[in-house]
Amino acid sequence: MTSNNQILFEQSQQLIPGGVNSPVRAFRSVGGTPVFFKKGLGSKLWDVDGKEYLDYINSWGPMILGHAHPDVVASVQAAAANSLSFGAPTGLELEMAALIHKLVPSMEQVRLNSSGTEATMSAIRTARGFTGRDKIIKFEGCYHGHSDGLLVKAGSGLLTFGEPDSGGVPASVAAHTITLEYNNSQQLTDIFKQMGDEIACVIIEPVVGNMNLIVPHLEFLTTLRSLCTHYGAVLIFDEVMTGFRVALGGAQALYNIQPDMTTLGKVIGGGLPVGAFGGRKDIMQCLAPVGKVYQAGTLSGNPVAVSAGLTTLKLVQAEGFYERLTAQTQKLMDGLVQAAKSAHVTFSAQSVGGMFGLYFRADCPTSYAEMMQSDRPAFNRFFHSMLESGVYLGPSAFEAGFVSAAHTDSDIAYTIEAAHQAFATVKAG
Ligand SMILES: *Cc1c(COP(=O)(O)O)cnc(C)c1O
Repeated sequence: MTSNNQILFEQSQQLIPGGVNSPVRAFRSVGGTPVFFKKGLGSKLWDVDGKEYLDYINSWGPMILGHAHPDVVASVQAAAANSLSFGAPTGLELEMAALIHKLVPSMEQVRLNSSGTEATMSAIRTARGFTGRDKIIKFEGCYHGHSDGLLVKAGSGLLTFGEPDSGGVPASVAAHTITLEYNNSQQLTDIFKQMGDEIACVIIEPVVGNMNLIVPHLEFLTTLRSLCTHYGAVLIFDEVMTGFRVALGGAQALYNIQPDMTTLGKVIGGGLPVGAFGGRKDIMQCLAPVGKVYQAGTLSGNPVAVSAGLTTLKLVQAEGFYERLTAQTQKLMDGLVQAAKSAHVTFSAQSVGGMFGLYFRADCPTSYAEMMQSDRPAFNRFFHSMLESGVYLGPSAFEAGFVSAAHTDSDIAYTIEAAHQAFATVKAG
């Protein structure tokens, strides 16, 4: 029997490239038919065939309270009734800026926009305007949205410049981006010695969530901080994923390192499109209409989106919120590691706050090269067995996972139970 999922996917492919509006949704990495959803509530989702799932993607991070949280829904409805958009300032934007500054104090000034991609693109332009320099540094395996200068991979040697990592990106744009290895302090130090006074900024995911989960070495982050200070380069923490996810104050609070600029997205919109960038006041004062760096948006600071975000950020401030989220996520990791062990499957796992990484290799990777050494066919068998049991994980061996505050003890127990069966499937090959 053809399922509604299959019918929708076939029809979507006729009208939408690959049938999806963002590539990873297409299940290309794991194979099979992507799930088309129609409803979510708390930790659960229902697809168009009525099958129920436990959700460990949470829209790639934003749904930290779970789906359709009644307070978030009510605030969206109330805001919508007062008009969906003004294209003019509102008090809600001030409230949001004040709350961001309170929770992430390094963001002395803030500008709101509508996505993480916009936030990183605009932060880099601001850093270039502030320093008067062109070159930027990023790290292999980190994702900072899909603007041209960030879809770049390393050139063939350390001191060569980047090459486009996507069709449609001019080599001349990629040439300004230098891509280095994550957690490699020596490489970073060498490049700064070579051309430190040409570098406008370094952008980094302070905990990486876009090549599965990679945890930073504290020594790497402190080296990065002092090099940027010494050479006058702007340090940008891209906390689009980690902000309000690994801790209330983001990764910068967790590791106690202050960046010059921070980008936010995902949780800050609670499921609606909100991005933000901000940082030192002297840098942010470069932005139009005060300064010369242009940046704008018709729907920036949209009242409905900001209301969803504000309500979300109010709720995550509850006493013990992150302690519980962290403990719940860790409990899931412990259970999965135990289940793999009893099935004799090579596996490791770790989490930071409410985000986690599962690896089909013996130990947790610390770089892109190590991450690439995980057993992809094993992950794919695991993924499909879990999906069959109604556990919805990221459809790629290279994506991080997310737990929400709505995940209950019995949700976690069910997931571990399903994993026992899935690891047996992996072992059977
Ligand atoms: C998701 C993500 C982005 C891009 O955000 P979009 O809202 O998808 O444009 C940028 N940086 C990081 C670290 C992300 O995880």
